[in-house]
Amino acid sequence: MIVEIYNPAVIYRTSYSFMGQMEGALIFLGLIFITILFYLNYQRTHLRDKKELEEQIDSVSGCLTYRYFLNHSEELVEKNPTNRYAVAMLRVNYLQYLGQLYGDEIFLKVIRFVGEVFEKLLDPTETYGYISDSNFAVLLHYQEEVELMNRLRMIHAIIYNFPELKTKNNHVKVTFGIYLVRPEEKYSTLQCLEKAGMALRSTTFSVDSLFRFYNDELGADSNRQAEIELKMETSLQNDEFKVFYQPKYNLKKDTIDSAEALVRWYDPEKHRYYPPADFIPLFEENGFIVKLDHYVFEPVCRLAADRIKNKQPLAPISINASRVTAGEPDFVRYYLSVKRKYDIPNNLLTIEFTESTAMDNYESLRKIVADLKAGGIGSSVDDFGSGFSSYSILKELKMDELKLDRFFITPGIDAERDDALLNSVIKLGQKLGMKVTQEGVESVEMMDRLRRAGCNTVQGYYYSRPITQDDFAAFLNKELATEKDAETDK
Ligand code: C2E
Ligand code: MG
Ligand code: MG
Repeated sequence: MIVEIYNPAVIYRTSYSFMGQMEGALIFLGLIFITILFYLNYQRTHLRDKKELEEQIDSVSGCLTYRYFLNHSEELVEKNPTNRYAVAMLRVNYLQYLGQLYGDEIFLKVIRFVGEVFEKLLDPTETYGYISDSNFAVLLHYQEEVELMNRLRMIHAIIYNFPELKTKNNHVKVTFGIYLVRPEEKYSTLQCLEKAGMALRSTTFSVDSLFRFYNDELGADSNRQAEIELKMETSLQNDEFKVFYQPKYNLKKDTIDSAEALVRWYDPEKHRYYPPADFIPLFEENGFIVKLDHYVFEPVCRLAADRIKNKQPLAPISINASRVTAGEPDFVRYYLSVKRKYDIPNNLLTIEFTESTAMDNYESLRKIVADLKAGGIGSSVDDFGSGFSSYSILKELKMDELKLDRFFITPGIDAERDDALLNSVIKLGQKLGMKVTQEGVESVEMMDRLRRAGCNTVQGYYYSRPITQDDFAAFLNKELATEKDAETDK
């Protein structure tokens, strides 16, 4: 048996078959191992690609991501050192209004469309990214600033005509803040974008402009903005926003017609009032204007209610509503509820909307005007003639008052033409059943001219500057008491 076991032939045979089996097993294991390796490698590459894609493309909007923009821009600027570059921040304006009109889906559709426009219009040495809300970042190269501006105008024109809204007679408006990159400053893309954002948010930036370039003064401006933003809430709690009243004069009756409530910001340390131009554009930008507009309405109603209760003379009062406030879903409900709370009779209050509030779509404002009217509050078109949509407002909206911008009484190139324009706009307003009020009347000559033109109501420094609430109460007592006396004398 031993011989059998140690028989070399047997040993070789068994070991050969054993080795053969081992070899097969090893090859098999090797194959499995290689397959696993391939699979793991594939998975890793696939995941990396997927992650890269996720980092590159925003899954919701389909636009390039902000993170991709930051990384890719640095690369592009580095690889193309001879190119002059500009970093721009684009904001799609009034998206919330569009959402209100056409439903929330429109928000995403607009964002997607803006992304597609960039994908079509940018060349491979440029890029963009969707930041969030209604903001995009763009890297553009240019030779001359005019050429850059023309390109931005073209981008705007295409976005403006977003087909889905164009068929509904509406448009998408965008605004750009721009920083021209100076390589010697060695700013990161993020720093450049911050400066573009500063230009976009600058308080001196009219909402109707298309672009604004960054300059060093804006840096200082932005510090001031930060200071204002820090103070605004506490100022509201401390009643540091004060309502002034500017009486309007009735040329026919030769007495007060009504008044406009105008807000001022009181600084208790410096004992001075700041005019709305110093803070309203910023509040419209950061949304605080809604709180402020609501806040202003309370003292107006309180004053009216007190005077009614005490049987003191009173005149109708108008208040201003920003386009941002008017865009709030419960805009009308708020104003009607406060009116009800103070039990203010109908036709004593008017809300002034600037031309820009209508911003090419009238449906939402038309409803607001109708609902306010049903609740006993009138509406007025403020600064008529200062924008470019003036006549459409008259065509589309039934407002109670037309307030003519100062433009109509400032001398132009020819006095005769000035008169023709003034006379016809006054007639037009009256024909449409509106009370026509001329703003900014500063002299007796202007008063006479307006009287001749058939204007009934004027507002301006000539009759009265905006005055404090106490002074306004005294003004009402004096003006309307005299009126009563005059009536008794007759
Ligand atoms: P606005 O509603 O057109 O108000 C008239 C502005 O013209 C007021 O400026 C007023 O003081 C000024 N003004 C009146 N008469 C004359 C005049 O004879 N000559 C000149 N040069 N100016 C005159 P103010 O008070 O600085 O207000 C500026 C704008 O700020 C207002 O224009 C209005 O759009 C806005 N505003 C004021 N208060 C509020 C508010 O509570 N909420 C909102 N959203 N905006 C407000
Ligand atoms: Mg006004
Ligand atoms: Mg005005």
